Amino acid sequence: MQGLMMNRPLSIIDILTYAAEAHPAEGIVSARTEGDIHRETYPEALARVSQLAHALAALGIGEGDRVATLAWNGYRHFELYYAISGIGAVCHTINPRLAAEQMIYIVNHAEDRVLFTDITFVPILEALRPHLPEALRIVVMTDRAHMPDSPLDLLCYEELLDGQPTDYPWPELDENTASALCYTSGTTGNPKGALYSHRSTVLHSFTVAVSLLQKLGLGKRILPVVPLFHVNAWGLPYMAPMTGATLVMPGAHLDGKSLYDLIEAERVEFAWGVPSVWMGLLAEIKARGRNPEALTDMLVGGAAPPRSMIAAFEERGICVNHAWGMTEMSPIGTHGTQPPAVEALPLEQKLDIKQRAGRRAFGVELKITDPEGTRMPHDGEATGELFVRGNTIASAYFNDAAASAKSFDAEGWFATGDVASISPEGYLTIRDRTKDLIKSGGEWISSIDLENAVVSHPAVAACAAVAVPHPKWGERPVLIAVASGEARPTLDEICDHVKEHFAKWQMPDDVVWVDALPMTATGKISKLTLRGTLGDYVHPDLR
Ligand code: AMP
Repeated sequence: MQGLMMNRPLSIIDILTYAAEAHPAEGIVSARTEGDIHRETYPEALARVSQLAHALAALGIGEGDRVATLAWNGYRHFELYYAISGIGAVCHTINPRLAAEQMIYIVNHAEDRVLFTDITFVPILEALRPHLPEALRIVVMTDRAHMPDSPLDLLCYEELLDGQPTDYPWPELDENTASALCYTSGTTGNPKGALYSHRSTVLHSFTVAVSLLQKLGLGKRILPVVPLFHVNAWGLPYMAPMTGATLVMPGAHLDGKSLYDLIEAERVEFAWGVPSVWMGLLAEIKARGRNPEALTDMLVGGAAPPRSMIAAFEERGICVNHAWGMTEMSPIGTHGTQPPAVEALPLEQKLDIKQRAGRRAFGVELKITDPEGTRMPHDGEATGELFVRGNTIASAYFNDAAASAKSFDAEGWFATGDVASISPEGYLTIRDRTKDLIKSGGEWISSIDLENAVVSHPAVAACAAVAVPHPKWGERPVLIAVASGEARPTLDEICDHVKEHFAKWQMPDDVVWVDALPMTATGKISKLTLRGTLGDYVHPDLR
């Protein structure tokens, strides 16, 4: 027997139209690239989103078209999220930290029609332009007075909005319509696109909002340091208007001092970001000898936060919520909020729990398996590859059948590439990863790509790129290399050789020369043995 309830499509624009009606005093505060603080309420945002939707239509954008953004966290980026998906097009957020080669790949792979950029990134686009689709239009997210001088044919965001009607007849879309596209470099090979839908996005918003019940919501002031260009700022641009919170957007300045000042001035209560960002804030808190007054909570994820960092915030009365997730999961899988009994534990016992990567959110299923695919017990000891299933998890990669074929098991669960154990109480502990990657400051470096580039140097016979722990960045790449002759190129020479293919922060920090690399039975370099060999190696920054 079927239930007798209405079936209305879940739709992203409904979040903002609801917020404009139900939470009219809340909105978005933005530290702008123009250098000032900008404020807009949700009703004002909705009016501008409507104008932007008209402007997009005037540019010829329709259902299914991909519209790219290359931008910091700010109100115009927020407006793009809603206007693009609202008209049935797809908001493709580009990570400006990617190497030029990867950016070129994804803009072409996505077949973007229009690209919206912050002023900051215009020089990058000038360099990339010859390699981008010829018909691509570029819009600078500013007003006429701040338009940069550039040889590019640029449109001006505020001019596009000027004079457009402040309401829009939003189409009723099938809830499975694609809404946003985010490429992850957290896999080997070319970046792969996770294509979110209206349904998955709204469900993700519910899922996470429920998990963070008392911390989000009416009148709260939340700071996403996690970028809108990296998995939709973990869903906050949807959750905040849905629950009635105000978003405080940090713009381009993510150093400890700028963040402290913004958190203090805007009375931010809850801040979201990767561990390396919070190391900067922590240093600033220590230097000033006090916390920003209103800050009570932070959500930390994207990489494992060091125990010492969790301890430092907890000791200062700031609650750390340790979450885990990934681009393909919208991204939040675990939320890291703890029951009151855990929060009341003595510090060391509390840290034992908070160091783990939280417990699953409602709607996200987790399983760990052995190499044959047999499920392993959730006893806190058994360690296996982590698979996930749920309505907020990708079912394939965008236009990439080969990558899609490799990423799911026979039961349709998504292979995360993480190796984990799960305790009987449901706590997830990430212990290793099967993907050959290094995560530095919350962003990926492919060890395989680095190795391939380095061995193309004539003086290098073989090479492995390994992750070495780093107090600020979490992990940094170090090369273990075998020379082909007497000559041993310096680190600078090696970096110079590979610089075309990598962003600056992806370059190796050191090279250690060895006579031979340990091999596995299948003829691959044994990273496991190498990590053991490197036992007492210390990163140059710590010597
Ligand atoms: P991304 O798709 O770039 O967000 O990266 C997702 C990956 O980051 C996961 O599969 C993990 O390898 C890693 N990651 C995310 N959160 C955590 C965490 N709390 N602890 C350890 N690793 C994490």
